[in-house]
Amino acid sequence: MQNAKNGYSRRKFIFKTVGGAAAAGLLGKAGLPLAGQSAKVTAATTQAEKSPITRVLGRTGIRVPIVSMGVMNADNPALVRRSFEMGIRLFDTAWTYQRGRNEEMVGSVIKELKAREQVVIATKVPPPRPEMMDQMGDKLIEQEFLARLDQSLARLQTDFVDILYIHNVSDPATLRRPGLLSAIGKAKKTNKARFVGFSTHRGMTECLEASVLDGRFDVILTVINYSMHDDKALLAAMSKAAKAGIGLVAMKTQCKQAWYREAMPDELKPFYEGTIWHAALLKWALRLESVTTAVPGYTAFDQLETDWPVAFGLEYTPDEVKFLSDHGVRLALSHACRQCGGCVASCPSGADVPSLVRAHMYAADYGNFSEMRRALDEIPAGRGLEACAGCGECAAACVRGVKIARRLDELKSIFA
Ligand code: SF4
Ligand code: SF4
Repeated sequence: MQNAKNGYSRRKFIFKTVGGAAAAGLLGKAGLPLAGQSAKVTAATTQAEKSPITRVLGRTGIRVPIVSMGVMNADNPALVRRSFEMGIRLFDTAWTYQRGRNEEMVGSVIKELKAREQVVIATKVPPPRPEMMDQMGDKLIEQEFLARLDQSLARLQTDFVDILYIHNVSDPATLRRPGLLSAIGKAKKTNKARFVGFSTHRGMTECLEASVLDGRFDVILTVINYSMHDDKALLAAMSKAAKAGIGLVAMKTQCKQAWYREAMPDELKPFYEGTIWHAALLKWALRLESVTTAVPGYTAFDQLETDWPVAFGLEYTPDEVKFLSDHGVRLALSHACRQCGGCVASCPSGADVPSLVRAHMYAADYGNFSEMRRALDEIPAGRGLEACAGCGECAAACVRGVKIARRLDELKSIFA
């Protein structure tokens, strides 16, 4: 397992690791947050050198390696195949990704490998837009959602998915929609989905808390990364959900956002480019006791070879400790958008600024223009880029220092 670009190998990885307790001590001295990160995790991982660390996904009882594949931005079947051969067992896709081609790719690779029984397929089906749902009525919502699920199953060439998520839930009200609840209930009853849940990028704390009270969601795919280290409410909600038996899958762990370009001091960039950044951030998320596995969205073999070794040990290397402790890095990371919604009121035209910033992320940081399009399409009419069209200078202000105007200018330039 060799990453030519970074001169990285698994052997070097093991050699460079430092003891969990020592790492915890160093991080403690550096004042880094250890909320939710337990010694138990560290102790268990020091023994795991030959097999990946595995964890059980809450009440589903499914055991998977802690590193899974977020297939979203990948379009190379050989990368999916190689991921399986290396030991990855959970593949995360969605009805919307690449307009269905992403699911088709996963389905054909798994079929070709004759591996359906060995893998966990998770897909996400989007509900109709909120304003549409208001008009549709519950029966139609259920029918639409289940029709989309059938499309997903056909593309995936399987009779069932292991995990069916309602895609992109940002409001507990969505989790109470009778049409959606009956749809996921039927999907389970008809064995089209073994387990059900939702994905969430925004309002994660509220959605997690609502799901604990509701009790019918088995798995939640949530954004969590180091830039959120001080979000005590979110970390507490995650712990609560995990304790209630909900399996938590982490996404956006490596925090691939414009913060790196916008706020990282230039002198630090060359040193922290590549494996240090990715492995350190992935480890941070996986050291949270509440998280079962993460779905990094790698798109190339060298990225796979950076992410997968993390499954064999969560101790930080000295360079990773340095990265996580570096004042410049931490300051830069505070410019990552958390989708907190704190900017909404500052826009005089009522634009859905967090969603616009997220759409920018898909385009500028992932190079995924179909996801950018989808994120824009999901914004309620009148609150998307059309609201910005007549605006001279952007007045929207971020509570954390995200350069909203710059990101929206870049987003607008795509359509210019
Ligand atoms: S741009 Fe800033 S205020 Fe707006 S959602 Fe992102 S982090 Fe929150
Ligand atoms: S460009 Fe104007 S409408 Fe768009 S987010 Fe900024 S202030 Fe709001």
